[in-house]
Amino acid sequence: MKKFFVPLFFAFIAVNGFSFSPVDSVNALMGTHSAFDFSRGNTYPAVAMPWGMNFWSPQTGENGSGWMYTYSANQIRGFRQTHQPSPWINDYGTFSIMPLSGNLQVDHRYRGRAFLHEDEIAKPYFYQVQFEDGTNVKMTATERGAIFVIKFAKGSRQYVVLDAYNQGCAVAIDTLENRISGYTKSNSGGVPDNFANYFVVEFDHVIVDFGTKTNDSIEPKSTKAEHFAVQAYAEFDLNPEDSLVIRVASSFVNEKQAWINFDREVRNRSFCDVMSESKKEWNEKLGRIRVEGEVFPNTLPTFYSCLYRALLFPRKFFEYDEQNQPIYYSPYDGKVHKGVMYTDNGFWDTFRSVHPLFTMLYPEITEGVLQSLINVYNESGFLPEWASPGHRNCMIGNNSLSLITDAWQKGFRNIDAKRALEAMLNQTQAQGPVASVGRNGYEAYHMLGYVPYPDYFESSAKTLEYAYADWCLATFAKSIGEEKIAEEYFQKAQNYRNLFDPQIGFMRAKNKRGEWIEPFEATEWGGPFTEGCSWHYTWSVFHDVEGLAQLMGGYEVMSQRLDSMFSAPNTFNYGTYGFVIHEIAEMVALNMGQYAHGNQPVQHAIYLYSYLKQPWKAQQRIREVMCRLYSATPDGYCGDEDNGQTSAWYVFSALGFYPVCPGTAEYVLGSPLFQKATLTLPSGKTFEINASNNSLENVYIKHVLLNGKTFEHNYLTHKQIVSGGKFDLKMSNTPNKKRGVEIDDLPYSYTEKKLEK
Ligand code: CA
Repeated sequence: MKKFFVPLFFAFIAVNGFSFSPVDSVNALMGTHSAFDFSRGNTYPAVAMPWGMNFWSPQTGENGSGWMYTYSANQIRGFRQTHQPSPWINDYGTFSIMPLSGNLQVDHRYRGRAFLHEDEIAKPYFYQVQFEDGTNVKMTATERGAIFVIKFAKGSRQYVVLDAYNQGCAVAIDTLENRISGYTKSNSGGVPDNFANYFVVEFDHVIVDFGTKTNDSIEPKSTKAEHFAVQAYAEFDLNPEDSLVIRVASSFVNEKQAWINFDREVRNRSFCDVMSESKKEWNEKLGRIRVEGEVFPNTLPTFYSCLYRALLFPRKFFEYDEQNQPIYYSPYDGKVHKGVMYTDNGFWDTFRSVHPLFTMLYPEITEGVLQSLINVYNESGFLPEWASPGHRNCMIGNNSLSLITDAWQKGFRNIDAKRALEAMLNQTQAQGPVASVGRNGYEAYHMLGYVPYPDYFESSAKTLEYAYADWCLATFAKSIGEEKIAEEYFQKAQNYRNLFDPQIGFMRAKNKRGEWIEPFEATEWGGPFTEGCSWHYTWSVFHDVEGLAQLMGGYEVMSQRLDSMFSAPNTFNYGTYGFVIHEIAEMVALNMGQYAHGNQPVQHAIYLYSYLKQPWKAQQRIREVMCRLYSATPDGYCGDEDNGQTSAWYVFSALGFYPVCPGTAEYVLGSPLFQKATLTLPSGKTFEINASNNSLENVYIKHVLLNGKTFEHNYLTHKQIVSGGKFDLKMSNTPNKKRGVEIDDLPYSYTEKKLEK
């Protein structure tokens, strides 16, 4: 009896399914087997629409824990509407619904129900669990709503608890309409005082008994509660063969808008209709890339599980009003505006390959994000860098500039260029409301050409990222004819040179007097670096690999330095962190020397071989990382997934190229993982990647044809891809050391390439 509902449900899906259904190869539990001290993704199974305003997840952890769902847990305490982009940033506007058979237990600490993973199904469009006590819960989501179907355990009392969480919240039970409405102000920062998430919940059966709980006291028959922490409960009396259907929606604007969202998305719609639509939507988005022909087992599920993660963030933080126009509550000025707002994104992570992926295949998102960036500037005086939902103090850099320039260079024109340039200039010349917004240390950086240590924490990482941001600004300025600004910022973009020590061949910290900080240890984490050490940051010169290579002594020397990152022992000094942060533990566990794929700063480094006339080394190592460090399993990532970035690395790499330097409109070649990949482009054209003779051993590119013509470059341009065409690679088990070794074959660098042997 226990598993009766599973086959019934999937029989429906099979009948109404699609011939190509990539969403069904997604494992939404990939990356959930994580903990504070060791991350295998730090993800949760988000039941959501792509970029949906609200995600839904089973909650195993206690209220307040960033580890909302962990695979090792054995009980679920609720089904939570969540907006959490990362456990380190935590949640906001969150509340949960928990059905209970038997005893009423309102408190999240005690109401958990035991489950086994074999009784659980986790898909992007559908989640189901059968608790050990027989209660069965099914959940599916729209962009702003959700529908639950609950089957209570036979012969037991039937309750639903609504937990409005804490930090100021309210519930109101309407026993005539069988509804619960309310709000929660729960947040982790980055919101104005008037922030709230207004929720509305409707049951399809009569509420026979009810009550509320305020802090620690339960009040039977109470219909209203408003306090720091409140919950509501409702009792039902269903026939044993009946299911309880719960429809939910919410709004960041007000309760009226929550009902508008409810009417648009879930009223009068069945669970199956909503689920089918979500499935269809996911298949449309995931299906824009079709991969075929695995050369390593289970890489197809891994590919689509990664693509699913890459298409969740940033979320649409906007709603549609009665006139069907987009509006949003601004987490910056607390007012309601017309237009769109995207949030829950750390650009430090996602500038690298998530946003470049959108420019290629999901331009509707890039356009919205660009508008949203300008809206944030209008409402807060700064561009966002780590938003959740408003400015949060997390990470470093001015990577918002990368997003704008990358999109602009690829032809996006839906923002006012002058306004964008003004916002970009301001971002580099002022400090925002928190250290990670604007440019921390900008006076020193502009005066000295670097951020000094120890005056500024993470100063060397900041210097390197600012220099790249300056190149982005200069590139943007140049393309709109602002030559003077371009010249000034191209100059600043060379500031990475100021922290390169030719004696030791590493990037390192300088004090404000221009002296190197002693002693130097390449394996020392933190201090002047961010979640890494010099081994990881020395390569952070995205826009000028040629310049870096010349500093190091040439292509061969730099190539050997890259080799030595993999052959060095995986030792570490935890430096200013004072303990082994999870990123360190993950690097040690990888056992790839100092290469730390579990964190973002070094994720582009392997591709640098393709700038150094040794592309075959990139090809071999990229394939090793794809096959060793990713799998569609709960422990399938080698560190924090981080808003799609670690996933998008895999998605691009599996296609055979990666955007090392967003803003150049180039994608550097690696080694494709499938025999065939077809991109369905926004124009309707296709770009087909055929890797003949591809296999586990045949990781090397022997030769390449682009649209039938020999192609020697180590990079593709954005235009070559989005124009559609055929990219035919012949793979081999031995490197072709004659391909991709001429000056013209190397990807963009700001510094002119020297003729080297
Ligand atoms: Ca990270």
